[in-house]
Amino acid sequence: MNQLQHSAIAENLQHVRERIASIAALCERTPEEVTLLAVSKTKPASAIEEAIAAGQLAFGENYVQEGVEKVAAFADHQPPLVWHFIGPLQSNKSRLVAENFDWCHTLDRLKIAQRLNEQRPQNKPPLQVLIQVNISDEQSKSGITLAEVPQLAAEIAAMPQLRLRGLMAIPAAESDYQRQLAVFQQMAAAFKQLQQSYPQIDTLSMGMTDDMPAAIAAGSTMVRIGTAIFGARDYAAKV
Ligand SMILES: *Cc1c(COP(=O)(O)O)cnc(C)c1O
Repeated sequence: MNQLQHSAIAENLQHVRERIASIAALCERTPEEVTLLAVSKTKPASAIEEAIAAGQLAFGENYVQEGVEKVAAFADHQPPLVWHFIGPLQSNKSRLVAENFDWCHTLDRLKIAQRLNEQRPQNKPPLQVLIQVNISDEQSKSGITLAEVPQLAAEIAAMPQLRLRGLMAIPAAESDYQRQLAVFQQMAAAFKQLQQSYPQIDTLSMGMTDDMPAAIAAGSTMVRIGTAIFGARDYAAKV
């Protein structure tokens, strides 16, 4: 136990939490306004166990099959873990997401929304969903434009087994803080505007290891952090 508490992952988590708190304080926000999602993709169950021992309960996964296996491995954990699907979603995998995850951050099509709504088991709470916006990465096929958000939001809002919680974005990689901030501020403005029509939405998912400070400064309410918690990913091991 002692050993777990002093693991590198526990130390990394502590460090990330402290950074969130200090960045929030600089922006006159409170740390409680920013949820830390630990992105555990490609990492073994033992790494997740270390994060849990350090108090982390919310995890993000990108690959459906890998995520479903981890959800099953920790299904009996108390308190329950909260699993967020944050990867690109193909319609032939939607059932697995609807049946296993608590959240989906990457909704960007009516057809997938309809499938998730139909496939979400009636005995579970609605799937918590975010609309993914393609805010700057023209290369990416994921996400819709800001102009398309109101229509998809209205369609999702009418689906009983989905609960619209807000917006998510993965901006194109950019090392300059001011340019990161400008993109995140566009997202924050769109989020505020959407809240006019849907006052219940409360989640703006943006910020990763390399752009977390700018995301928090712009108003992110959920940062998705992998590398700073679990270390670099070894994709070769996956294939
Ligand atoms: C991998 C991933 C993250 C975490 O990225 P890091 O740079 O390792 O913090 C966050 N969000 C999404 C959608 C990802 O795919």
